[in-house]
Amino acid sequence: MKYSLKQKLTFSYVVIVIASIGFAVLFANVGIKNQFKHYAIQKQEKETEETINLIKMKYDEEGGFRSSYLDIIGMNSLQNGMILVIKDTKGGTIWSAYEHNNGLCQAMIKNMAINMSSYSNKWDGRYEEKTYPIMDHNAVVAELTTGFMGPYYFNDEELIFIKALNSILLFTGAASILLAFFLGIFMSARLSSPLKKISDKALFLARGEYKERIASDYNTREIKILADTINQLSDALMEKDRLRKQLTQDVAHELRTPLTSVQGHMEAMLDGVWELSNERLSSCYEEIMRLKKLVGSIEDLSALEDRNILLHKEEFEFSLLLERLLNNYEKELRDNRIQVGVEGDGIIYADKDKMSQVFNNLLSNAVKYSGEGAEVIITFKQAADSVEIQVSDNGSGIPKEDIPHIFERFYRADKSRNRNTGGAGIGLSITKSIVEAHGGSITVNSETDKGTVFTIILPGKAEG
Ligand code: ADP
Repeated sequence: MKYSLKQKLTFSYVVIVIASIGFAVLFANVGIKNQFKHYAIQKQEKETEETINLIKMKYDEEGGFRSSYLDIIGMNSLQNGMILVIKDTKGGTIWSAYEHNNGLCQAMIKNMAINMSSYSNKWDGRYEEKTYPIMDHNAVVAELTTGFMGPYYFNDEELIFIKALNSILLFTGAASILLAFFLGIFMSARLSSPLKKISDKALFLARGEYKERIASDYNTREIKILADTINQLSDALMEKDRLRKQLTQDVAHELRTPLTSVQGHMEAMLDGVWELSNERLSSCYEEIMRLKKLVGSIEDLSALEDRNILLHKEEFEFSLLLERLLNNYEKELRDNRIQVGVEGDGIIYADKDKMSQVFNNLLSNAVKYSGEGAEVIITFKQAADSVEIQVSDNGSGIPKEDIPHIFERFYRADKSRNRNTGGAGIGLSITKSIVEAHGGSITVNSETDKGTVFTIILPGKAEG
């Protein structure tokens, strides 16, 4: 059986409180009993001493033992639970409570036994006697025997007081436990209710509902951290979900136009509206190849956006990477009479293939958007703990309003012109993701009809 946190907390709290209050009551009870026992024994001794002194004083005053005062002292002691017998040195009885009122003595002994048994069922007292000499000028004149319930006893009033004290103690204990029980429920509810809210929110997350946020103004540090973390998790999942939906929409949108165009061409040829020709088939084939390239780019982008990017970093010379790239562009550059200048060189610490992709994108854009006779310059600058690489061209430039968006996927600055250049608007998104995965940054500076400068900063080996 599973218990809720609230039940467990309440249970633990109540157990702790019952144990503490139980111990407190028990110790108080034992302490009171011991104190009273001590008090009863001392009282007994004091009374005996006072009785002896009184008899001695009266003996001196009256010039001997007289029943006139012995009756009063003896009966008074009997009232206090002490039975007196006074004998002379030869053993003859001078005064005896038994002889004076035997019935009262027996009743007294019985009452004391009943009192003490009712006080504690573990009481194993019995009737005890103690004998003391009564002196006159250093000579023993008589012996006083005191009889009482030992080792100690309580009279009626004392017993009522002790019982009342015990009842108060028990009542206080029970009331405290009851109070603790309700306080326990209240406090457990206070502690468990934010956790309940957080777990409800986690259930919402599991169902894909990310919008609702949990209040995180709790004053318990751990609960606040948990609430903040769940909110962050919720934001991250919401963003991921948004990106996924956006990507699906973008992809569908991007694929629809070329697919519709291929479909239209094919239908026209199948219906005999268009004559089947090599030229038309080649055009369809090119469109399909473009689609294939687009799908490849989308795959790259989705992997990069999912942060699944795995880098195999190594140190290599930047010029080697450029050399290979420029070889690929040789024909295109020559056909368009585009000049490429390279300034500076140095070592970079990065994933060679991914960096190839980055500079391939930048170079192809520079060529694509610069037109015949343009000039492209690539500069490399080494700083203390980073490298700065710039790719600049004197081409068409990017309109001001488009600059903030060009790194967004599927964004093209000039839609109609881009259809001709065949760009899908993915290249710069991929470039940015790769550069950022390396811990670097990419920025752009551009002016329409003047040219564009892309600046990449990559951290050196120590930082990267
Ligand atoms: P595309 O595949 O369309 O080139 P990119 O993501 O590489 O996609 O670039 C996004 C847009 O930024 C391009 O459509 C283009 O309008 C603009 N752009 C990128 N590089 C340049 C450049 N060197 N000169 C002018 N415009 C550029």
